[in-house]
Amino acid sequence: MPARTGQDYLDGLRAQDREVWLRGERVADVTTHPGLRNGARAIASLYDMQHDPARRDDVTYVSPGSGERLGLSFIIPRTRDDLERRRGMMLNWARSTCGMMGRSPDFMNVNFAAWAAASEHFGEKRPEFGANMRRYYEYISENDLALTHSLINLQRSRTVSGMFNLEEGTALHAVRETDAGIVVSGARILATLGPLSDEIAVYSPRLGRYSEPHSPFALNFAIPCGTPGLKFLCRESFDLGKSHFDHPLGSRFEEMDCVVFFDDVLVPWERVFLYGDVERLNRTAEATHSSVHTAHQGTAKNLAKCELVLGVALLITETLGNAHLPHSEERIGELIMYTELMRACMRAAEADAARDEWGVMCPAQLPAETTRNLFMTAYPRMVEILQLLGSSSFLIAPGEADFHGPLGGHIEQYLATDTSSARDRVKLFRLAWDIAGSAFGNRQVLYERFFASDPLTRARALGAMYPKSEATERVLAFLGRDDDVM
Ligand SMILES: Cc1cc2nc3c(=O)[nH]c(=O)nc-3n(C[C@H](O)[C@H](O)[C@H](O)COP(=O)(O)OP(=O)(O)OC[C@H]3O[C@@H](n4cnc5c(N)ncnc54)[C@H](O)[C@@H]3O)c2cc1C
Repeated sequence: MPARTGQDYLDGLRAQDREVWLRGERVADVTTHPGLRNGARAIASLYDMQHDPARRDDVTYVSPGSGERLGLSFIIPRTRDDLERRRGMMLNWARSTCGMMGRSPDFMNVNFAAWAAASEHFGEKRPEFGANMRRYYEYISENDLALTHSLINLQRSRTVSGMFNLEEGTALHAVRETDAGIVVSGARILATLGPLSDEIAVYSPRLGRYSEPHSPFALNFAIPCGTPGLKFLCRESFDLGKSHFDHPLGSRFEEMDCVVFFDDVLVPWERVFLYGDVERLNRTAEATHSSVHTAHQGTAKNLAKCELVLGVALLITETLGNAHLPHSEERIGELIMYTELMRACMRAAEADAARDEWGVMCPAQLPAETTRNLFMTAYPRMVEILQLLGSSSFLIAPGEADFHGPLGGHIEQYLATDTSSARDRVKLFRLAWDIAGSAFGNRQVLYERFFASDPLTRARALGAMYPKSEATERVLAFLGRDDDVM
């Protein structure tokens, strides 16, 4: 089957009966529910790009296996050109959602492309798991499915950090094995895009040792979102049912986050990619390089987000007439720096890409992974800069209806600035508010702080991959010098 259209995607969501709960009620149809439908439409519009004659070649590729045109994020990149084309596609998608849908389907697609290429990692001790991975990748790429994922166990306490916090009764674990598969129970966070996905991938980035040699917590599998016993509990929706004028981002890009409960869920054997093997699970990201590929997807999302915030900041200073103030210039300079750093890391990751042992062209690890850590603090700072530039204007932003109400004339007269009509000013600040003030905007800040794990874990990860001796040896060489010329 070739790459899907938006309608195919929406039909697929409707075809699968799933248990999604929002505000105490089971959602009958995620494509029409007021809190979810616009997010579904936004994802559908990404799929529609695949059938737009002007963009088709930029976002699809011809599968060497089936000869069908498939979504480009499913490609297993073998050359630098593949990698750049794939990033071009991801940037296209990210720009069309202003970088506000971090879990657009390309995120998991690049992950599974890396895993399929490295399927021997999964099949080394259990060859059937390697074959499962290859078949699954073929299935999702040929059917153009959207995946959510849930990596972290819900924690009852913070006595130890998350990956070691394997509390029985809470953390997801295998309850028993049957001829048909593994039965699992427990609770996981935080499946972004959960209600709007076809399938859920479940694994852990790392796991503490629980028991040797076989841990019931060491799992890697993927199942349809409508699998019996699977329940998605949504947070409240940040799509407030307002117009695009009033909430330009929230009314379009609600990707939703869910807690996922597994009540004796049967995972068929053919959907199991790893089971019981803690050591293999802990090595997965490193051995398959999947983390670098998802980091590369993140650079495209981050760049799109930087471009949006920088553009809004520039328009704020033009609209308010404060562009010439030294502290405005300094703040704009900082936003430019983050934007260009992101672009530079993305391009460095491609320029220094190298083929790995699986024959996959991998983005260079350090520039790609650095962007995850950078954005944890850079994005909150970028939002702070918007607030500092906009000040009270964020709150001098009446709704669309006010323009048509009794105070419409006053609004048109008094809210205009030297360079902007009242309507343009308010429209801009409604957008700025959705980045820097609304519930939707604050969720984005939280997302960037935590989606790639907590900051301490990320710092340790970067520290572990950095070639520290290169830095220390240079200093030691200097300390060992006895000449007095620099
Ligand atoms: C908006 C959003 C979307 C997300 N989407 C997804 C998704 O799609 N899929 C997915 O799998 N995950 C997702 N995540 C979850 C993300 O992986 C977790 O939030 C992240 O791993 C951090 O876990 P936590 O929230 O339990 O924080 P915690 O582990 O509680 O960490 C919070 C803080 O406490 C510190 N801390 C905690 N315990 C200790 C300890 N014992 N000692 C010292 N310090 C400690 C941490 O260092 C950190 O600073 C998402 C998160 C957010 C916010």
